[in-house]
Amino acid sequence: MHAAGYGSATEELADHGLYRFRKGAELHATSPELVRRLHAHVRKPQAGNYGAFEELAKSEGTTFLRDLLEMLPDQPVPLEEVEPAESILARFSTQAMSLGSLSPEAHKALSIAMNQLGGRSNTGEGGEDSDLYQVPGTSSKIKQVASGRFGVTAEYLVRAEELEIKMAQGSKPGEGGQLPARKVTEYIARIRHATPGTPLISPPPHHDIYSIEDLAQLIHDLRAVNPRARIGVKLVSGTGVGVIAAGVAKAGADVITVSGHNGGTGSSPLTSIKNTGLPWEIGLRETHETLLRAGLRSRVKLRVDGGLRFSRDILIGATLGADEFGFGTAALVAIGCVMARQCHLNTCPVGIATQDETLRTRFNGKPEMVVAYFRSLAEEIRKGLAELGVRGLAELRGWYDRLETRSGLDPLLVIPVSKPSRVLPQQTSVLDGGVEETELSFEHTRPVGAGCSPIHNFHRSIGAHFSGELMHERLEHKEAPASTRDFQGTAGQSFGAFLTSGLTLNLSGEANDYVGKGLSGGTIVIRAGHHASKRGDVLVGNTVLYGATAGQLYVAGQAGERFAVRNSGAVAVIEGLGQHGCEYMTGGIVAVLGRIGLNFGSGMTGGLAYILRNETEHVLNLEFVQAHELEALEEQNLRRLLEAHVALTDSPVASRFLARRSSLPFVRVQPIHFQGTVQSAWNCIPAIAAEPLAVEAQNFLSISESPAPNYA
Ligand code: SF4
Repeated sequence: MHAAGYGSATEELADHGLYRFRKGAELHATSPELVRRLHAHVRKPQAGNYGAFEELAKSEGTTFLRDLLEMLPDQPVPLEEVEPAESILARFSTQAMSLGSLSPEAHKALSIAMNQLGGRSNTGEGGEDSDLYQVPGTSSKIKQVASGRFGVTAEYLVRAEELEIKMAQGSKPGEGGQLPARKVTEYIARIRHATPGTPLISPPPHHDIYSIEDLAQLIHDLRAVNPRARIGVKLVSGTGVGVIAAGVAKAGADVITVSGHNGGTGSSPLTSIKNTGLPWEIGLRETHETLLRAGLRSRVKLRVDGGLRFSRDILIGATLGADEFGFGTAALVAIGCVMARQCHLNTCPVGIATQDETLRTRFNGKPEMVVAYFRSLAEEIRKGLAELGVRGLAELRGWYDRLETRSGLDPLLVIPVSKPSRVLPQQTSVLDGGVEETELSFEHTRPVGAGCSPIHNFHRSIGAHFSGELMHERLEHKEAPASTRDFQGTAGQSFGAFLTSGLTLNLSGEANDYVGKGLSGGTIVIRAGHHASKRGDVLVGNTVLYGATAGQLYVAGQAGERFAVRNSGAVAVIEGLGQHGCEYMTGGIVAVLGRIGLNFGSGMTGGLAYILRNETEHVLNLEFVQAHELEALEEQNLRRLLEAHVALTDSPVASRFLARRSSLPFVRVQPIHFQGTVQSAWNCIPAIAAEPLAVEAQNFLSISESPAPNYA
């Protein structure tokens, strides 16, 4: 080792092929020979070419854990009695590879192919171009939301057949991903509601989701906004994943993905893609068994991904418990990837993993190539099933007795007898459950002028379901009138989540965490009377405006921690907040009229914040943001924002600032590498730049006038 490092006269270390194929060096499963054979087949689909590709499954030696397993045949069954290819294809999906990590052309080719096949493509984290919605068969059925960030709008959610929450990803669990600045073009920035040329940090969702309760809340929110969609949760293979999966099933997921340690490199730094995660064989078996033992298996579909390529992979996956199968690298190879392994550099030579305009013209992939690969794979699976003597993949599920270990490594693989776990799950329709309707559903609340509806903290996600339905009607070109609702009391989690344009929620009282999560153009106003504002009462909880893309929030009181985290377009006025305000913010405007906690602006790459001059010391995260004096026009804009706040909340705090003869005591906080101009940032907020909203302060019941809750 020492000699390798210091023995040679040259300064360069030898390339041992850790990250890319090098002759005679580290073994790579997706070898040049595999790429050549698959390319030969997709360019000229014929049985011989596909057979040559499948041959590699037998000849490539021991690479994966599953290579130590052998399927035991039984009395064969006639091929025509086996599950049809269409049914198998419906179990296939391409895995989350985002627009941004992939070029628009490659991303679209995958979605067209999967729609043609009756399978599913996955948008990945980063939204989707809404232009695709005008062209049938081009948008992805699975829309990934991670924990609700980057381009997650009410329309995006409503368009989905499945919504996937990414808790982690197989090749880099615990670290998340990152879209390098060079890949964030104008187009990508528009779709992600971010600023061009800035890196988009995508930390692991445990950064955003702290507990199974938070996950359950997000599932609840997503189901509220789109009750027609399956809700999936992506987990990473590892020991202990079974217990986590049991929690996820109890939290209400319909699909659980167990993601293996292969793949997932489209935009991550090289250092993020090695030595993380475990093979899916380990996590899948544990998950299936744990769910079965807990009586939860019938509630969910299990999907597996991580280096699936051959029919053998699918048969073993099904035997270890999988219902559905995700493909990443193999699908990319089918549309032309040559495994040059420079996805993160934006220099992909075949126009797949790049946003460079010149390189994108080199993309020669066609949806038909993916179709050819998956159709041949499905037929090969049918043949395999016939030889094994089973008539469908579901029959194999959890039938461990059909597996035998090839070597003496049984203790490592521990294949248990399958009798107790070979109970075929009874799948129930995931859409049967629906969303709990409460007396607070919009249809039953009273309009402005008819008084406030009482609200309690067990009323969660108020506004989300109505937003989804409203959006649904708009997509069908039906008239969907604007609507305002008044509430009084203590709102539960996610008040106004994904609230869409045309909807206004007025709350006289206080609200729990996640107010305005994914706000999509709606307006939320929260106040609790003069005394509450003057005292600085905390009126909203933590993680308010998480991932908001548009809309307005006015709170005549203080907020908890992580206010406006990942806000990418909403405007907000708040009268004080806890730590980590405006974290990872990529757009929008936030005015804070009171004290702020530590670490303000951490990871902020876009948008503007306004804070009191005397609050700047020690609280700004100077690695990311800096403070500036206000420009003249900017002060006028800020005044109008405060006037709107007063008009809507009757805030004495804002009134006091507006009554000053001298200039406003605020400074602007902006990202160190701020792109664009201050005025252009304000111009993104036309409602404020124009005139205050026409909602009168007297529409609110003053808390002091109401019997409960008592804030005095
Ligand atoms: S060919 Fe393109 S997509 Fe494939 S590994 Fe290389 S850079 Fe990535």
